[in-house]
This record gives sequence, C-alpha cells and structure tokens, in this order.
Amino acid sequence: MKAITLLGSTGSIGTQTLDIVAQYPDRFRIVGLAAGRNMAMLAQQIRQFRPEIVAICDREQLPELTQAVADLSPQPIILAGDAGVIEVARYGDAETVVTGIVGCAGLLPTVAAITAGKDIALANKETLIAGGPVVLPLVQQHGVKLLPADSEHSAIFQCLQGVPSGGLRRILLTASGGAFRDWPVEQLESVTVADALKHPNWSMGRKITVDSATLMNKGLEVIEAHYLFGMDYDQIEIVIHPQSIIHSLIELQDTSVLAQLGWPDMRLPLLYALSWPERIYTDWKRLDLVKAGNLTFREPDHQKYPCMQLAYAAGRSGGSMPAVLNAANEQAVALFLDEKIRFLDIARCIESVCDRFTSQNRSTPSLDEILAADRWARQEVIGLTTSIAY
Ligand code: MG
Repeated sequence: MKAITLLGSTGSIGTQTLDIVAQYPDRFRIVGLAAGRNMAMLAQQIRQFRPEIVAICDREQLPELTQAVADLSPQPIILAGDAGVIEVARYGDAETVVTGIVGCAGLLPTVAAITAGKDIALANKETLIAGGPVVLPLVQQHGVKLLPADSEHSAIFQCLQGVPSGGLRRILLTASGGAFRDWPVEQLESVTVADALKHPNWSMGRKITVDSATLMNKGLEVIEAHYLFGMDYDQIEIVIHPQSIIHSLIELQDTSVLAQLGWPDMRLPLLYALSWPERIYTDWKRLDLVKAGNLTFREPDHQKYPCMQLAYAAGRSGGSMPAVLNAANEQAVALFLDEKIRFLDIARCIESVCDRFTSQNRSTPSLDEILAADRWARQEVIGLTTSIAY
C-alpha cells in the first residue's frame, strides 16, 4: 500500500489522480490533500478519501471547510494558506507527493516535500523549470526520486528503463500542435480565449491549454527534459505529431529509436509515476493501431510559434532565466484569459521581459533569487501591458 499526498487535488491532475486511487484502493491511500479554492470539491474529496491532513490555499474558506466536514470522525488536521499547503506537502508517512498545483506556486511545497524525504510525482513542470538549479541538488542530497507525470516525460522515462547510462543520444518530444495548428498565421492576431481553450486531443486545465496553443508548453517541456534527463538543449528536439498517439521518443547511441504509444489519457503517466517500477493491470481502453490510423509528423513552425525558441534561449541562458520565462508566461497567459491582452501579445511580453533580464542573470541562483526573478518578471509583464493601448 503506497501512501500518497496530493497537492492541487481539485484540478485536472488532482481529480485524475484520485480516480486512480479510487480504482486501486488496495494499492494507494491518501495521506494529505491540498487545494486552491474549490472548497466544495475538497470537502467531498475529504469525505471520500479520509486524509489525515488537508489544506485550502484560500484562507477565507477555512471556516466553511471546517464546517463542511465537522461530522467526520476522526477529524483531519485542517490548515489554510501557502503555509498550510507546505505543511501538507511535508506531513506524515506519505511516500510520494503528487504535485498538481498549476504554475510556480508549486515550487515551495515541492521543495518542502523533497526536504522531508518524499518522492515527487512531478505533474507541475513549472517547479522544475523555474527551480531546477535548486531542486536538482536537493533531490540528490535527500536521495528522493523525481518521477515525471507529464505525458512526454513519462514516455521518455518509460523508454529509458533498461537503457544504460550514456546510452541516450537524443530526445524527441512530440507536440500535438495545439488549438491553432491548422489556422493560418494571419488569423492568430484575432483569436479569442474560447478559441485558445479548444484543445484538439487532450483535456487539461486552462493555463496549460493556452500554453499548448502558443506551443510554450512544448518549450517549457524542453527545459523540463533538460533538467530531468540531463541532456544538452542541442540533443532535445520537437516534432509535431497531430494524433498524440506517440507520446515521445528517444534515440540511442546506435541510432535505435524507442517510442511510447497510447491513447491521449493523463491517467497512464500518472499511474506509472505512482506505480514505478511496477506495471499495474488496468481495464482502460487499449490502443488499437488500426483505429488510430495514420501517424504523421512535421517540423514545428517557429515563425508562427515563437515561444519554443524563446524557451530554448532561456534554457540555454540557465540560472534564473527559465524562471523569468515561466513567470512572464504565467502572467501573460493570466492576462490573456482575462481578455486584457491579445493572443500574440503573450510571446511579445515574454520576449521583452527575458531580453531585459539577461544582464542580471547569475548561473547558480539561490531559491530566494529564483523567487525574486519570478516576482520581477510578473511585475514587468504587468508594467508592459498597462502601457499597451487597445
Ligand atoms: Mg505534456
């Protein structure tokens, strides 16, 4: 029986993780749950999974949450705020912490979990992208495992099982192409929020769906792959694969290429991150290659989607630059979702903010320096966008 704590329990990753826990009650149990502000869903999850400790990030909802589960016996410890989420992350005998919090907000709870000796099922890529220079040494120091739950990185991790160290030559990340893959570039100037939220293959949260439409998601995944698998940026490539059946590939030193295939379903990478190195039987829909039909590939269009190159450049700069890129992206996407800026402004904002940070970048930043770079970048985006007139 594996004890699990889940951060971001009411989001897309969180609810799918709980589906798995509910399906395998003799394999997994929930120690802690943390959510942002969906009090009603969190209360229902507490009732169903009976964790020992919970936190709601929005402090104002603490009384209502406490009231909603007052009849339960035994009572869980109920906390609130960022400090509450961090406490849940490090609490008790949980072996693995699933990080499903969106954005850089996941960084400090993940650091807390690592420091408490817990393995991380990494579903929050921003943690590693922003915090890589601090997170990786901590993972080493505390002897914990960083198990990828992003579908592409899970695919690479699955293909790497049994590959000896030094055997990996190149990583090929597949990309669906996002909501606008078949739109002409001229039309991107006028896309709406609703357009950007229509992902052709994957059902995910709002932020990551917009990241998929700009292809920043793939750029962020390049940086994530660099940190997870220790490959140089020259050895990480992106290929557009509209069907999302091949979840990524690796090339070995002898030119052999291995791929991992499956229907687009986040539960599989989540289950593997929880069950590794075991393979658990599931009754999920099995891949039918004939039904999947043609698998096609094409080169990514860097003119149409500048975010990928921005991410490569930030990754190569290293230090706090990926944190700046990530924070600028989070802020710009939030403004786009609020209809304060247009779709193409997202990339423009990020480029402008990264350009201005170059001179301040240090190669081995501390956690405080990374967090300061994150705050600086968000302010810069807000400053830029208030000066844009429509
Ligand atoms: Mg992914």
